[in-house]
Amino acid sequence: MNNQLPFWLEKHTRSIKKVDMHHAFLVSGRKGIGKDLLVRYLSSMTLCNDVELNICKSCNSCKFSTLENHPDFYELQVLPDKKLIGISQIHELRNKLYESSFLGKNKVAFLPNLEKISIDGLNAVLKILEEPPNNTFFFLTTNFLNQIPQTIQSRSFDIKISPPEYEESIEWLSDYPKEDSAHALRLNNNLPLAAKEFLDNGFLKIRKDFIAEISGIIKEGKDIVAISEQWTKDESSLNIKLEWMSLILSDTIRFNADQTKNSLNPDTDNISKYLSKKSNLEKLHQLLNKTNSLWNLFSRETNLRRDYQLNSLFVDWENDLGISKKI
Ligand SMILES: [Zn+2]
Repeated sequence: MNNQLPFWLEKHTRSIKKVDMHHAFLVSGRKGIGKDLLVRYLSSMTLCNDVELNICKSCNSCKFSTLENHPDFYELQVLPDKKLIGISQIHELRNKLYESSFLGKNKVAFLPNLEKISIDGLNAVLKILEEPPNNTFFFLTTNFLNQIPQTIQSRSFDIKISPPEYEESIEWLSDYPKEDSAHALRLNNNLPLAAKEFLDNGFLKIRKDFIAEISGIIKEGKDIVAISEQWTKDESSLNIKLEWMSLILSDTIRFNADQTKNSLNPDTDNISKYLSKKSNLEKLHQLLNKTNSLWNLFSRETNLRRDYQLNSLFVDWENDLGISKKI
């Protein structure tokens, strides 16, 4: 059911074998570090019939192609029309967990992103952890350990995942040209899993085109209507482009204060340096706010005339950055 784990997650599989007293594991670490991947692996280990907690790949449990259709694996998710996981979902989960397992072995409850569970809900989780159902293992994850109530933390075995060293990440990405891996790591907070996904989905090329288009807009007065239409056609890269626009402005603000500062994104240095001489701090901050608002809006809402909104942001960029060219 599961493949190999990346090396920086591998060592954490040993902790579960050592601690047979615990039923609950709290996995924490930065977003994109691989918490879900680790939990799915640990879940497969827990569900497998092997007494040594391995993944045998041949028992009834391991034969399920994914955990999602495994009858003894329960994953909590925020319902489509809700912002948080409420107490009723926790009660529903509790009822299922107090029944016996389908395959006669362990049950696993996966509660990803604890910060997305309501206060009531967390209290209900705590109650279950205080009187855990038989043969049931809980895997909880969070990006923000400091927001998780101490009561939950003290009931769980703590697994903190640290990011690998830069050189180790480059080594792990050795199937890709080194220069590409380095670039992808830089654009993804040095998180190798995120960098790999970035490379696999062709985002290096998208990044290159993005830089050419933004330079075109600010330096040559390129047709912003055409670019907005084109960007909005590709849903999958629209949000990241807005994030990149926001990063350019953050770098521009840094350069505006001090030309010798190091930027966060060397491949857009020329753009940021150019813009920092063209505008003032107040306007840059306004523009950064506008860009971030649109980025947030696009992440939440789907029923928008996106091309129109984006076009209007480009016009703001042109005007506020003092590079207004008639199109
Ligand atoms: Zn098995």
